[in-house]
Amino acid sequence: MGNIRVTVIGESGGTPLAGGATSCYIVEADGYSVLLDIGSGALYLIQKIRSFDLIDDIIISHFHSDHYADAGVALYSRLISMQLNRQVNPLVFHAMERRELEMAPYSSVSLINEASEDKIGPFSVRYMKTKHPVPCLAVRLSYDGKNVVYTSDGAFSDQLAAFSSSADILIAECSFYPGTKAEEAGHMDAVDVAELAAAVAPGKLIVSHLPVYGDRNEILQCIKTRWKEEVLLAHPFLVTEV
Ligand SMILES: [Zn+2]
Repeated sequence: MGNIRVTVIGESGGTPLAGGATSCYIVEADGYSVLLDIGSGALYLIQKIRSFDLIDDIIISHFHSDHYADAGVALYSRLISMQLNRQVNPLVFHAMERRELEMAPYSSVSLINEASEDKIGPFSVRYMKTKHPVPCLAVRLSYDGKNVVYTSDGAFSDQLAAFSSSADILIAECSFYPGTKAEEAGHMDAVDVAELAAAVAPGKLIVSHLPVYGDRNEILQCIKTRWKEEVLLAHPFLVTEV
């Protein structure tokens, strides 16, 4: 029985806090690492804990800058490593569009959509289109009977709850404090996340894509009054495993 480990790299929505990063998570199993999004500041923080040469696959949930701002410099990192004849493979971006991410032989783009059934390393991967101002995919990675679901950005919906069912780790976006009009913006607030958690009953809930203002503990407390199981407020280098 193998475990899945999630490491938060960037937890901020929109723009990073000083010294931090926006959306980026390492999901690994059986010695294989996949990145979920690569936001602003992500490449800098990843290299504090491992060589970026060890990561070959990056899923880009959507083309908002706080989810893919570092994709271009990640590509240059791979170009330099390959030109220096380090033992590295081309980078594979799994994304809905090619944009400027394809540069053979250093990188390729594997196009994805909500009907895709991917195999990335040891993971089976599925996607769901979320309610967001631009096309955006929630991601479900499965390995050895365990599931990690990443909501990326999007308003609460029954479809998202169904897609997230039996998640052992649920990484849920929480862009706003309670009492805001998150749904209109295509996001979730703390009350929405609590509703999602109650519907899904995840093994572990990581609340992320957090506001860069105010006191984030208010979000944690709001969720904890409505959902009594384990809740983790994301921060760089938070590690959890199932
Ligand atoms: Zn977005």
